[in-house]
Amino acid sequence: MMICTFLSTMVVGIFMLQVWLTDRRHTAAGYWCLSMWVGSLCTLLYALRPMGLPMLTVGFSNMLAALGYALMWAGFRVFDRRPAYLSVVLAGPVLWCLAYLLVPQVTDDVNNRIIVSSVIITAYSLWMGIDILRGRSREPLPTRTMSAVFFLSHAIIYSLRIPMALLFPASFAYGTAYSAWFAVFSLELFAHTILAAVAMLVLIKERGEALYRQASRTDALTGIANRGSFLEDMQARLSRRAQGTLMVFDLDRFKTINDSHGHVAGDMVLKRFSEQVSVLLEEGMLFSRFGGEEFALFAPRHEIDRAQEFAEMLRAAVAAMSVACEGRQIGVSVSIGLADVATFGANFDRLHSAADNALYAAKEAGRNRVMRATPGGVLAGLAERMRPPATGISIAS
Ligand code: GH3
Ligand code: MG
Ligand code: MG
Repeated sequence: MMICTFLSTMVVGIFMLQVWLTDRRHTAAGYWCLSMWVGSLCTLLYALRPMGLPMLTVGFSNMLAALGYALMWAGFRVFDRRPAYLSVVLAGPVLWCLAYLLVPQVTDDVNNRIIVSSVIITAYSLWMGIDILRGRSREPLPTRTMSAVFFLSHAIIYSLRIPMALLFPASFAYGTAYSAWFAVFSLELFAHTILAAVAMLVLIKERGEALYRQASRTDALTGIANRGSFLEDMQARLSRRAQGTLMVFDLDRFKTINDSHGHVAGDMVLKRFSEQVSVLLEEGMLFSRFGGEEFALFAPRHEIDRAQEFAEMLRAAVAAMSVACEGRQIGVSVSIGLADVATFGANFDRLHSAADNALYAAKEAGRNRVMRATPGGVLAGLAERMRPPATGISIAS
């Protein structure tokens, strides 16, 4: 069992090192690699117990066991971006050393040593289990709950060593301290080490996937949702509840802002606009950058009148905004087109096309205004757009 534990912790340590070397931002993997190697050295020294040298195979190896768990704890703290206090990392190993070196009952009696080391390892395991669970609300990775169960059950099982040491004390046999229940606990320790290591690797992988998923749904410039994620979320809302209003936004004379203040200033305006609207959003609303200087907002609980009031409030807030860039103040305004599900149905393409027509009408009417789509207005808008441009060329027959 000890050979298996030694080998598996060595191999897992190598995998953790590989993860850390591939991307140094995985600081947790660095701690877990150290933890695994400290654990494997500890197991090796345990296995050498029948050879004597108690200071090394008992005193030092138990200190390594505490340090291994402390480093694992630090890894989980770092993983969840919580402080990994050096005092907590050192507390377990130091407590063990003090007990082993200064308390003769611990130095000389294997059962007392089991009690002290079990208290330390139970405390770290319990803390890790609770931390992993607490991280669920902030980052709900699928394997979190299972990992927490591994550590909490390990804490419970490890703590059972204390009553076992009191009720069925170990005696000296086979050249070392021995009790029938040792094998069962060693098997649990081995299984837990493997499960914990797999959980750590899976958690790192799941975090990577979640970050990529998040990045693929986010607009790089403004940090709000992009068109793809907006469409996905809006389809989901529409299939659940057929109501609400779609608003499409287009910043007015944005090309002029770029031309007179530069592209960087234009980018700044896009960011500030997104921030301004984002802080005014209500619960359940979806807001995204649709492309260029066009944005879309879906208000799932607003019928057209309320939506128009809301859009009017946003328009006024944007018009009151002034974006400072390189010592200059840039004024911004936005035109907004609205189309509601009650009139145009729960079909995104139809809603978007209607809202776009209303937006077009708002631009035509002088910009910096809100217009709502009407079924008649859609037809008129289409006719207007399909009219061939005046070329000034007359064809004589
Ligand atoms: P209108 O009031 O009719 O909407 O006029 P407009 O100038 O806003 O419209 P137009 O479509 O002519 O110009 C949009 C400009 O937005 C053109 C393009 O260069 C600029 N643009 C698109 N994406 C970005 C971006 O990411 N950053 C910056 N700075 N400019 C962008
Ligand atoms: Mg545009
Ligand atoms: Mg524009």
